[in-house]
Amino acid sequence: MNSAANAPSSPKTAPPSGIPGIPEMLPDYSLRARNSFGFEVLAKQAYSITHADQICAVIEDIEAAGLPWRVLGDGSNVILPPLLPGVTLLMDIAGQAITQQDASGAVVSVGAGVNWHDFVIWTLDQSLPGLENLALIPGTVGAAPIQNIGAYGVEVGEYIQSIEAYDCHLKTLVEMPASDCAFAYRNSIFKAHPNRYIITRVHFYLPAAWTPRLRYADLAAAFASDHVPTAEEVMVAVCKIRNRKLPDPKLIGNAGSFFQNPVVEQSQYLRLLEQFPELVSYPEGNEHEGKRKLAAGWMIDRCGFKGLRAGAVGVYQHQALVLVNHGGGTADAVLALAKTIQDNVQDTFGVPLLLEPICY
Ligand code: FAD
Ligand code: NAP
Repeated sequence: MNSAANAPSSPKTAPPSGIPGIPEMLPDYSLRARNSFGFEVLAKQAYSITHADQICAVIEDIEAAGLPWRVLGDGSNVILPPLLPGVTLLMDIAGQAITQQDASGAVVSVGAGVNWHDFVIWTLDQSLPGLENLALIPGTVGAAPIQNIGAYGVEVGEYIQSIEAYDCHLKTLVEMPASDCAFAYRNSIFKAHPNRYIITRVHFYLPAAWTPRLRYADLAAAFASDHVPTAEEVMVAVCKIRNRKLPDPKLIGNAGSFFQNPVVEQSQYLRLLEQFPELVSYPEGNEHEGKRKLAAGWMIDRCGFKGLRAGAVGVYQHQALVLVNHGGGTADAVLALAKTIQDNVQDTFGVPLLLEPICY
C-alpha cells in the first residue's frame, strides 16, 4: 500500500549472504494510503520490515535514540494524527505456506504483512475451509490476532495454533501457543500490552472436519434452509453482505466499527429492556455468566445519529457503528463526533461506549 509520494531517500544496501540488513529509514513518509480513514498523515520516520531478523536491530536503534515508536499493518483499525513522531514500523513480512498436513487438518504459516482477505481466499483455493466467515475484513494477517478479529460468529483465535513475535521485553523472537494469547471478544494479550510484542508470523490450524457456521441472521438468510453451502459459497455470501452494508474504505474512509458492543450484566439488561423493548442484544459468554452483549449500532441509531454529517466526518447511513471521513476529515474531527455519540448513549442508556480502533 506504499504511496507513490514515498520514494526511498537512498538505495537499499545489499545484505550479505541473503540475510536482510537494517532497512532504509523512510523520512516524512506519507501514510495517506496506509490508513483506511484516508487521513493526511506523515510518519516522521518509517521502516518497512520485511524480515523478522530486522526487528531486533531497528528496536535497539530506536530505544538507544529514546524515540517513541509504534507498529502499523494496513492502518484499518487506527486513528492517526497528522504527524506521527518517532518511528513507525510498517509490517511487510510476506509469504504463506502449508507446513504440515494430514487427514485431520493442516498447519499454515503466514507472514505478518500478508493481506488478510487474500489469505482467506488462498486457504479456500487450497481446499482448507474455516476462515470464510472472516472474508473481506481489511488489514494484515499480523494484525488479525491483536483484537482477535471476528465476524458472523467466528473469531480468528479459534484457528490460531501459535504466534511468532519479537518480545520487546525479552529482546528476542518468541513462539507463543494460542493458549498464551488470552484471546477474548475483540481482545488479546497483544492488545492489552501494546508495544510488547511485534507479531512476525502466524501459524493457523485448519481442521479437515468442517461445517458451515450460519448463526447470524444475515448469513443464514443467504441460503435456502435445505441447502448446505460450501465454504466458497459462504465466503461469497459474506462478501455480498459486507459490500451491501459496509462502506468500502477505498471510496469512503472508515475504520469499520468505531465502538465496541458493550457487554452488561443480566440485571442491567433487564432494566434497559423494560425501558427499550426493541433493544437489540445477544447472550454473551457461557450461559451461567448470564451476560448480555448490546448492539451498539442500534443504540447509536436510536439516539438519532445514523447518517448524521458533522463537517467532513459523519456516521455511515447504512450502519451507525461506522464513522466515516467524507474527505478532508481529521482524527480530531472524528474523535469529537465520537465523544458526542458516547455522551448521548451514556445519557440515554447509562452505558459507556468504548472505542474499537486504536488512537495514536
Ligand atoms: P492496523 O490498523 O495497522 O493496526 C491495528 C493495531 O494492531 C495497531 O495497534 C497496531 O500497532 C497493531 N499491529 C498491527 N500489526 C501488528 C503486528 N504485526 N504486530 C503487533 N502489532 C500490530 N475487525 C473485525 O474484528 N471484524 C470485522 O468484521 C472488521 N471489519 C472491518 C471492516 C472495515 C471496512 C474496516 C475498515 C475495518 C474492519 N475491521 C474489522 C477492523 C480491522 O480491519 C481489523 O482490526 C484488522 O485486523 C486491522 O488490521 P491492520 O493491518 O489494518 O492493522
Ligand atoms: P449485524 O449482523 O447486523 O449484527 C449487529 C450486531 O449484533 C453485531 O455487532 C453482532 O455482534 C450482533 N449479532 C448479530 N447476530 C448475532 C448473533 N446471532 N449472535 C451474537 N451476536 C449477534 O452486524 P454487521 O454490522 O452487519 O456486521 C456483521 C459482522 O461483521 C459482525 O460480526 C461484526 O462484528 C463484523 N464487523 C465488524 C467490524 C469491525 O470493525 N469490528 C466492522 C464490520 C463488521 P458482533 O459484532 O459481536 O458479531
